[in-house]
Amino acid sequence: MTETAPLYNRVALIGLGLIAGSMAHAMRRGGLAGEIVGTARSAETRAVAREIGLVDRVTDTAAEAVKDADLVVLAVPVGAMAAVAEDIAPHLKPGATVTDVGSVKRAVIDAVAPHIPEGVHFVPAHPLAGTEHSGPRAGFASLFDNRWCLIVPAEGSDPAAVAKLEALWHGMGANTETMDADHHDLVLAVTSHAPHLIAYTMVGVADHLRRVTDSEVIKYSAAGFRDFTRIAASDPTMWRDVFLTNKEATLDILGRFTEELFVLQRAIRMGDGEMLQDYFSRTREIRRGIIEAGQDTDAPDFGRSGTS
Ligand code: NAP
Repeated sequence: MTETAPLYNRVALIGLGLIAGSMAHAMRRGGLAGEIVGTARSAETRAVAREIGLVDRVTDTAAEAVKDADLVVLAVPVGAMAAVAEDIAPHLKPGATVTDVGSVKRAVIDAVAPHIPEGVHFVPAHPLAGTEHSGPRAGFASLFDNRWCLIVPAEGSDPAAVAKLEALWHGMGANTETMDADHHDLVLAVTSHAPHLIAYTMVGVADHLRRVTDSEVIKYSAAGFRDFTRIAASDPTMWRDVFLTNKEATLDILGRFTEELFVLQRAIRMGDGEMLQDYFSRTREIRRGIIEAGQDTDAPDFGRSGTS
C-alpha cells in the first residue's frame, strides 16, 4: 500500500465520546491526520482517553487543544456547542476549519457561527451513525463505514474547506451529501428524533404498566420491545438537547404520528383488517428499501451487534 499524506496536519477533537472516539479510530485507520489532539470536560474522561491512547495528545483545556489545529471538531452535546465555540474562538488558527457532529443543525449553526472569527471556516456536519453507548471507550473505527454524513455548509462556506471535510468523511468510510440546515432537521425528525421519542415513551409505558411485572417485560422483550429498550438507553443529555433544539420539526412529526396512530387505533376498533393489511404491507416495503440501500441488514437480530 502506498502512503498518502494526511488530509489535515493537526485535528482537534473537543469532546471525547462515542463520535469523537470513533473519528479518532477511523482517522488513524485511514492515515488522515498528522496528529490528533483531544480534550473533554471532565478529568475522568481525559484520564481514560490518555490510558487507552485514544488520541495522540490529550490536553486539559479546549483552548490548548485547538492551538495550531487545521481542523477542529465540536463533538459535545448540541446544548454545549455555543459555550465551547466561545471558549475556543480566540485560539483558532487563521485558515482553520471548524466543524461539528451535532444531531441538530439549525440550532448549532445559530449557536456557533457568531463565534467563528474572520478567516476561519465553519462547515457543520452530522454523521448518521451511532450506538446507544457513550463515553471515551465507546468508539470504534468502523462506525461510519457505509453510513451517511450530511454536510450542511453555512452561508458563504469556502468550497475548498467543504471539499476537504467531505474527503475526510470519505476517508473514514462514510458517504456524504450536502443539505440545507432546515431540511436536515426535518429529515432527522422523521428518521431519528421522533422514533427515539416513541421508543422512550414505549419503555416508559411498560415501566408504568402494573399489569406486566418487571420480570415479564424483561423476559419476553424479544418481541419488538427489546429494540425500543436499546434506543431508549441512548445518552440522556444528548437526547434532551436534541428535543430542546429541534423542537418545531419534532413536534410537527409527532403531530402527524399521533394522527396516524388514531387512524390505526380506529381500524383496530372497527375490525378493519384490510386497512391494517395495506398499511403494514406499505411499511414492509420501506424496510425492504432500507436494506436494499445498504443501511441495515436483514439479519434476525436486526444486525445490531455493533452499530445502529
Ligand atoms: P458522548 O459519548 O456522550 O460524549 C460527549 C462528550 O461531550 C464527552 O466527552 C463529554 O465530556 C463532553 N461534554 C458533555 N457535556 C459537555 C459540556 N456541557 N461542555 C463540554 N463538553 C461536554 O456523546 P456522543 O454520542 O459522542 O455525541 C456527541 C455529539 O454527536 C452530540 O452533539 C450528538 O448529538 C452527536 N451525535 C451523536 C450520535 C449518537 O448516536 N450518539 C450520532 C450522531 C451525532 P465528559 O465525558 O467529560 O463529560
